[in-house]
Amino acid sequence: MQKILGIFEQISRIPRCSGQEGKISAFLTEWAQTRGFAVRADAVGNLLISVPASPGQQQAPVVVLQCHMDMVCEKTPDSSHDFAVDPLQLIYEGDWLTAANTTLGADNGAGLATALALAEDPELVHPQLEILCTVDEESGLTGASSLAAGFFTGRILINLDSEDEGVFTIGCAGGRHIELILPLHHEPAPASDPVYELRVHGLQGGHSGINIHEQRGNANALLARLLTRLRAAMPLRLAAIEGGSAHNAIPRDAAASLVVLPADEVLLAALVAELAAGLRAEYRHEPHLAVSVQKKAEHAGWVLSRETTARVCDLLMAVPDGVMAMSKEVAGLVDTSMNFATIREQDGALSLLFSLRSVRPAGIEWLAGRIAALAALAGAGVRQGNGYPGWQPDMQSELLARARQVYQGLFRSEPVIQIIHAGLGQKTERQENDKNDQQERQQRSQLPPAAEPPGQKLIQRLGQGGKDPGQQDRHQKIADHVQENCGNEENQQQQGRSVD
Ligand SMILES: [Zn+2]
Repeated sequence: MQKILGIFEQISRIPRCSGQEGKISAFLTEWAQTRGFAVRADAVGNLLISVPASPGQQQAPVVVLQCHMDMVCEKTPDSSHDFAVDPLQLIYEGDWLTAANTTLGADNGAGLATALALAEDPELVHPQLEILCTVDEESGLTGASSLAAGFFTGRILINLDSEDEGVFTIGCAGGRHIELILPLHHEPAPASDPVYELRVHGLQGGHSGINIHEQRGNANALLARLLTRLRAAMPLRLAAIEGGSAHNAIPRDAAASLVVLPADEVLLAALVAELAAGLRAEYRHEPHLAVSVQKKAEHAGWVLSRETTARVCDLLMAVPDGVMAMSKEVAGLVDTSMNFATIREQDGALSLLFSLRSVRPAGIEWLAGRIAALAALAGAGVRQGNGYPGWQPDMQSELLARARQVYQGLFRSEPVIQIIHAGLGQKTERQENDKNDQQERQQRSQLPPAAEPPGQKLIQRLGQGGKDPGQQDRHQKIADHVQENCGNEENQQQQGRSVD
């Protein structure tokens, strides 16, 4: 661990904000050359350092250690730190390492330092290593997504950019957006009819990938249920409708303006109260769920025709939402999901946005097909958004089995094997907030202990594994997927960060 910390301290003296990796790249190049390791850069600045195999290990499969050389550069408002030239001021406090008034850059400095420490350890018996250092990860994964085929040769790739000790990530979902567009037919509203705003609010919301299995209430879907029940009891018409906030957020709030007959006002209030009580009983895990109906002071200028109102309400009721399939291979893993993300009115049309996720390409196609079929039935159009591929977990992976075995041997406990139902590359909101609060910190005890770094053991055992074509095949898939960098696209939401 001291070795890793020593390298980390060296790295922390070198400016390396995303997009400004010149100095760290020069440092890494010199580091490699002074040790006699071949190093090359690609057109965007990604570096590959080749560390020859230990004697007798030349036949063992090459292992790629991936990390990124840039960091998130944030500082406190009163800080005069200049990220372009100043070294970070590291602070050791007990088991914790932080930086004075700036982000620490442990993401991914800790991974970079670990890779270098392994490469220059004279005791370590290892196969050929390829240290892959990408640029510009934090502002949009542009380095990883620009990697050309053949830049590295290894088919076993270990990414060192995880943030939790004892967690092995072996897969992630792919995603796609789809927008359904229904033309709306408006007509003048009768001046005598009152307008009410019906609103569903106070839901927890959450990330549409990470929280989808919790069956949280979706405000858009609940509003659709209310409208369907109300329509069955009275001849209402929609004047306006809106819900949700972003493609990757479970909607917390949705509202519709309804025009009803004066004779139905009492019934409307009573029915909404009854339906609200029913929803609260059903959604006990949504303690702040609220349904309100309020008379508006102004009259509606325009309303949807009865026919269009019916079409909109039926469509909202029919669209799928939530967990659509659970994995048949991994207990408890969401395989495929759909988030009914937003409802908007734009240019005389209704736009419904859906976020589709699946670890399997076929899962995405299935959901996209369902939306297209619904659109055809409703007379609506479909706009296919861009997507990114998933990374299908391989539970039979030899690398996984060995990593698990090494971990168990070192820590006498089970590692967490994680497959996330979101695009990798993006951090969770909490982690991002931590960074933006300059709260990024590294626990010393979470760095590999001095005696037996898990990476060292693993690399050693991979070296001893010799050549195994079947194993290489399986690892090929992992390497390919990681090279594609799950979720390397359209992660510009939330300030260009990439868990989509
Ligand atoms: Zn990172």
